Amino acid sequence: MAQPPEDTGQKLALETLDELDWCLDQLETLQTRHSVGEMASNKFKRMLTRELTHLSETSRSGNQVSEYISQTFLDQQTEVELPKGTPKEPSRPMSQISGLQGLPHSASLSTATIPCFGVQTDQEGQLAKELEDTNKWGLDVFKVAELSGNRPLTAIIFSIFQKRDLLKTFQIPVDTLATYLLTLEGHYHADVAYHNSLHAADVAQSTHVLLAMPALEAVFTDLEVLAAIFASAIHDVDHPGVSNQFLINTNSELALMYNDASVLENHHLAVGFKLLQAENCNVFRNLSTKEWLSLRRMVIDIVLATDMSKHMNLLADLKTMVETKKVTSLGVLLLDNYSDRIQVLQNLVHCADLSNPTKPLPLYRQWTDRIMAEFFQQGDRERESGLDISPMCDKHTASVEKSQVGFIDYIAHPLWETWADLVHPDAQDLLDTLEDNREWYLSKIPRSPVDPTSPEQGGLDRFQFELTLEEAEEEEEEEEEGMLAQEASESPDTDLLSPEASSDPGALCLDNQRTVGKPCMDHEGNVTAEPSGS
Ligand code: AMP
Ligand code: MG
Ligand code: ZN
Repeated sequence: MAQPPEDTGQKLALETLDELDWCLDQLETLQTRHSVGEMASNKFKRMLTRELTHLSETSRSGNQVSEYISQTFLDQQTEVELPKGTPKEPSRPMSQISGLQGLPHSASLSTATIPCFGVQTDQEGQLAKELEDTNKWGLDVFKVAELSGNRPLTAIIFSIFQKRDLLKTFQIPVDTLATYLLTLEGHYHADVAYHNSLHAADVAQSTHVLLAMPALEAVFTDLEVLAAIFASAIHDVDHPGVSNQFLINTNSELALMYNDASVLENHHLAVGFKLLQAENCNVFRNLSTKEWLSLRRMVIDIVLATDMSKHMNLLADLKTMVETKKVTSLGVLLLDNYSDRIQVLQNLVHCADLSNPTKPLPLYRQWTDRIMAEFFQQGDRERESGLDISPMCDKHTASVEKSQVGFIDYIAHPLWETWADLVHPDAQDLLDTLEDNREWYLSKIPRSPVDPTSPEQGGLDRFQFELTLEEAEEEEEEEEEGMLAQEASESPDTDLLSPEASSDPGALCLDNQRTVGKPCMDHEGNVTAEPSGS
């Protein structure tokens, strides 16, 4: 067999080596990209844990706030002693979704009988007037509830769908929309203080306003908008008024059904989708199969991201996106793949879910009263059952004002500040309200000469916590050194995400050796957008 001339063989070998190099690069890129979010999230978790440790040492109530934040938002569970006893017989077969009420046929409405906004009320004029504020941050949802015969979710979603022309775009029959919404709203528990249909209406309306921010103008398709609003509407349906941890600790049917993973969020989704199958409830029946599958995937991704134990991961990804933000020539965000698009929608609905402190104070205070009432009810149940009382759930010891200041400083403010960076300057007013509200709650903390966290002791300075990807202080670095040395052998340092390292828009350089999204070189050394050989 004839041998190839020597120079041809050499050329082939060099080309093969080049190809191999390229393959290795790609593998490295993939691996690095995967770990960026995780690295940032781990770093945030460490920073917050350190702050919370300081806070828990200040006083008993400081400790309680710290425990609340870490158990709710950091996914840190405590070991609990469960009371002994024989487990209950399961009341339903596992093949059924619990909490579904049979839908009476009379609930199905015909087009001729659909009132304005889908709800029966003798105050339609006043309701219409109130709903003129549907596009405003600060719509009085409580007033809407009063004027709609306690059907705020139906009335508000109706108003949003009309304003956005979604009935026409997706050929949703008006009677089907009214029937579905009334059925959905009926599956929120009116006797639960916070997680009832008023909260769903509030989150849906907040989502609607956030989607309309100039920085997001024409960024999302009609289907994505529909998915975000629908997800907000169903995101807490059939909420029993207790936390995921309570459901897990008490061996509930729901925890069993979902193997302790995002128990409530999985349930809200199952109920929200299942109700579409009730008589005259399928608002999506005129969508193509492709649209339906795409909508379902987005709704699932959005609602699962409302599990508060995912908060730090979401925030870390959002922060990373802000650091490398791309905008079009028109000044709106450029989101060119599913991962980025869904990430913004997940964060948007997550922000809406945590928007109480950004609302005008009279509204915010009502939400606080409601969430505390719900927490205390859970605490009463825990006390009666001999369980450990969850943080912030003991009505005898909880400090409402301190919990709000802590919730703002450690959770709401870092999130909203990052969101405001993403859509700058569209969310500046909300951020200002948030900061004013924080000052108000701070001023209401009862003064105590023995409590070092009382305002005049200056102890609450500790609450000033700025979440940033930059290295905060030298002291912090020293503390981290041990941990980082260990991590460095496995992955590059998160600090490489700092603004100095990535302020060049579009450039995602992680360090001199490792690159993500860096322009590629072809065999001649020319810079190309696509990797050579692809
Ligand atoms: P969700 O339960 O889906 O409504 O998620 C929101 C969670 O964030 C609540 O369950 C609380 O744990 C927390 N949260 C929201 N608003 C407040 C608030 N005003 N004060 C304290 N915690 C809050
Ligand atoms: Mg929820
Ligand atoms: Zn919620």
